Amino acid sequence: MRILITGVAGFLGSHLADALLADGNSIIGVDNLCTGSLANLRHLENESRFEFRELDICRAFDPGAVEYVFNFASPASPVDYSRLGVETLAVGSDGTRNALEVAKKYGAKFLHASTSECYGDPAVHPQTEDYWGNVNPIGPRSVYDEAKRFSEALTMAYHRYYNVDTRLVRIFNTYGPRLQKNDGRVISNFVVQALKGEDLTVYGEGDQTRSFCYVADEIAGILGLSRSDEHTPVNIGNPHEWTILECAHAVLKVTGSKSKIVYRPLPQDDPMQRKPDISKAQRLFGWEPKIDLETGLRLSLDYFQSTIDLEAAKA
Ligand code: NAD
Ligand code: UDP
Repeated sequence: MRILITGVAGFLGSHLADALLADGNSIIGVDNLCTGSLANLRHLENESRFEFRELDICRAFDPGAVEYVFNFASPASPVDYSRLGVETLAVGSDGTRNALEVAKKYGAKFLHASTSECYGDPAVHPQTEDYWGNVNPIGPRSVYDEAKRFSEALTMAYHRYYNVDTRLVRIFNTYGPRLQKNDGRVISNFVVQALKGEDLTVYGEGDQTRSFCYVADEIAGILGLSRSDEHTPVNIGNPHEWTILECAHAVLKVTGSKSKIVYRPLPQDDPMQRKPDISKAQRLFGWEPKIDLETGLRLSLDYFQSTIDLEAAKA
């Protein structure tokens, strides 16, 4: 298949490209590099089945005939989408519409990268796909949450009104190599802090929870969904729930670091708990994650150390 990936220079988009190339497909990848990096694609420089175009999907674009569209373009970390608030709303609305138009024009299947943030600060725990969420529509996280909720609605509208063959994946916190080291997400912050011997910054008391999925598991789940015929949202994430304080201790254990834990204010509207119910993915295409947090962290250490070394060499 010839496949379009938007957001291909990002963390997940680049891993998705690798997996789809390994399956024998050709990729046209687009990205405006607002949060991604060409470093994530450097290993594909001599890959004849991979083509990159630098463009902003908020403007209409035509990649030529494709059979599948994976729409992954969007700032994703709270630090990035706070810095790029209006751009995040634009890529969730105009950008998603332009990607859907490509799928409509070429009769391609379409998979949109949605998020557990659609559940907001959830009142239902663990989160099942039929829970409608608890989102502050005007709070600081709304630029991301509402963009993603709108793009889910738009995707369902293209399915209902134009018969586009769509899928929606609700991705829960994912980590691994190529996570940008300074995008402010908890795993990148803690691992980089631990490796540098700096204090680990726990926000609030660290009793809020998240469920962390290793990137290889996440990509396997996304590919499972891409081959299924399910049009309604499907959670893909690791259901093992950690408090942020437990996560900090796991990072200290895996890195062997002597860093201290310090406490910083909890950001506004920070969800208190998050854990996917993955029974839908298990039932539909037999997916469940295999890699636990400590193993996944060990698999990520070389990458984070090399980004620190690179930065030190430049300084
Ligand atoms: P990322 O920031 O590493 O990648 C996103 C990519 O999209 C970047 O390369 C960025 O430059 C590109 N992009 C943003 N706006 C664009 C635009 N207007 N035109 C073209 N390219 C644009 O983030 P990620 O973690 O790889 O996330 C990928 C997708 O998965 C996002 O849609 C995100 O919302 C979703 N997601 C990720 C997670 C996670 O834990 N990583 C969780 C839930 C959802
Ligand atoms: N967090 C933290 N210290 C950090 C970065 C994040 O305690 O240095 C917390 C943050 O407040 C949130 C959780 O870790 O409760 C996950 O944050 P992240 O930005 O990774 O993703 P989110 O799930 O909030 O989008």
